[in-house]
Amino acid sequence: MPALAPPILPASRWSALWPGRCAHCDARSGTPLCPDCLQRDLPLQPRCRACGIAVQTDGALCGSCLLHPPHWNGALTLGDYRFPNDRLILRMKFGGEPALGRWFGDLLAARWLQHGLPRPDAVLPIPLSRQRLLERGFNPAWEMAQRMARGLGRPAQAHSLLRVRHGQAQSSLPLEARKRHIRGAYACTPRWDGQTLLLVDDVMTSGATLAEATRVLLQQGAAVWVAVALRTPLDPAS
Ligand SMILES: [Zn+2]
Ligand SMILES: [Zn+2]
Repeated sequence: MPALAPPILPASRWSALWPGRCAHCDARSGTPLCPDCLQRDLPLQPRCRACGIAVQTDGALCGSCLLHPPHWNGALTLGDYRFPNDRLILRMKFGGEPALGRWFGDLLAARWLQHGLPRPDAVLPIPLSRQRLLERGFNPAWEMAQRMARGLGRPAQAHSLLRVRHGQAQSSLPLEARKRHIRGAYACTPRWDGQTLLLVDDVMTSGATLAEATRVLLQQGAAVWVAVALRTPLDPAS
C-alpha cells in the first residue's frame, strides 16, 4: 500500500465546537488534536487488516488473527488505545463531549477512503443498553457512525442492532468472562442478505463485543466490516 498522508480536517468545521486548544500539547488548534499531534499520536502505520493491531507490514495479519481470524471481513483503527490517546476516549465518554466522537468519525471516514476499503450498505454503531444511554446521555459510537456514514455517503442506522441485555462494564472482566458475559447481548431483526455492514465502536480491546455483534449480523445474512477509533495495543509482556 502506498504511503498516505494523514487526513487533515478543515479547522473551520471544528472551531465552533472546540475550545481552541490541542488536547495533547495545548497548542492553539481548531481541531481536538493539532496536526503535529495527530501525525505523532494517530499515525498512519501498518496495522493488522483484521484487528487493527500494529504490525510490521501493511496489509498483513497479526499472529493472533492468523491463528483465529475474526468473523468480520476487516477492521480499521486510527491508533492505539493508550496514553495520551486514551484521554480522548475518557473525555468523550465520561466528560460528555460527543463532538470528539464526531471528530473520530470524520477521521475514520477519511482513512477508510484513503485505504480504498469497500463502502458499506449501512453503518451501524455498537449500541448501548438503555440504562447506559440514560447514564451517559449519548452513545459515542452513534456520534462516530453518523459522521462515518456521511463521509462514506451511506446511511447510518441507529436501531437495526439493539442491545437487549444490560451488564457490568466489559473492561472490568478478563477475556473469557467477557465472551461469556456479552453472549446474547445483541439482537437484530432486519435481514441483510447480500449486504455489507460497517460496525462502529470507540475502542476495541479483546474484540469480544464486536465479535458478538458480528455473529448476530452474520446470522441475518450480512457481511461485516469494523471501524474503531482506538485499538488496545498488544501487551508487551504477553
Ligand atoms: Zn498538539
Ligand atoms: Zn490481528
